[in-house]
Amino acid sequence: MNADTPGAGRFAPSPSGDLHLGNLRTAILAWTWARRTGRRFVLRVEDIDRVRPGAAERQLADLAEIGLDWDGPVLVQSTRHQAHEDALDRLRRAGLLFECYCSRADIRRATAAPHTPPGHYPGTCLDLTEPERARRRAELAARGRAPALRLRAPVSEWTIHDELHGEVTGPVDHFVVRRGDGAPAYNLAVVVDDGFQRVDQVTRADDLLFEAPAQACLATLLGIPPPGYVHVPLAVSPAGARLAKRDGAVTLFDLRGLGWSAADAVGWIGRSLGVRGARTAADIAEALDVPALRALPLAPWVVDPPAAPPPSAPRA
Ligand code: GLU
Repeated sequence: MNADTPGAGRFAPSPSGDLHLGNLRTAILAWTWARRTGRRFVLRVEDIDRVRPGAAERQLADLAEIGLDWDGPVLVQSTRHQAHEDALDRLRRAGLLFECYCSRADIRRATAAPHTPPGHYPGTCLDLTEPERARRRAELAARGRAPALRLRAPVSEWTIHDELHGEVTGPVDHFVVRRGDGAPAYNLAVVVDDGFQRVDQVTRADDLLFEAPAQACLATLLGIPPPGYVHVPLAVSPAGARLAKRDGAVTLFDLRGLGWSAADAVGWIGRSLGVRGARTAADIAEALDVPALRALPLAPWVVDPPAAPPPSAPRA
């Protein structure tokens, strides 16, 4: 790839089940942002964690059905083991890794102390002596477990640029980069694989906004140019909780069962973005140029799952 190769936008779902309307809306926005800014658009299946058999294929079929296309092969994250290990080696050689022997319960107990931000790693294993490490490692091994690896973060915060949220400064914790079970942590894999796919525009739901500074910092430590970001609103249920399958007919599969076509679902997503009459993703991309994309509201999209065919559907 030469220096003229354009950067890419991307969509990177975890194949834990069917995509819901919020995921489809994020995918359409990621595709629209990429196409409207002259970028390639790539897909990645993030299958190092929550995987349901067959879900990845169904997700790709749904994305194609709403009219998205993508450049090059879909990257499957579980095939990237060596690249993730190479990145860990690079951090290790730079003195930026340490073993952590804590269980979740240990961390919960330590962070229950006053003045500790919730979820913040309390630094328990940061500065242990080598004999102490050997003792803790052996203790874990006796229970059939191995230590996790954490980043020895050289800074405590980092600033990213988001097209919708502006400059966002957030914490960089000594976060986990390899889990105790040997799998790369999401925060490592996402950075290494976005770098590999030349992603320079990360569009995703804004529940990940506060992970972005740590990810951009890690990218820099790995010699990967940090991407720009577009964190779009999350979809929520009428009760205000993150949208989930149990909320009702929120996937193309369930909507189909009620007489909705994929085009009807795209029409609904379009209306939520102020676009009338859309039937495919291209209709939405045509209606939304970059100023319009920047002006979209930042409030969550409240999805009230239907119990009937769309109003325009012919009645039986
Ligand atoms: N795989 C993550 C998810 O489906 C998204 C990660 C990302 O876009 O960075 O929630």
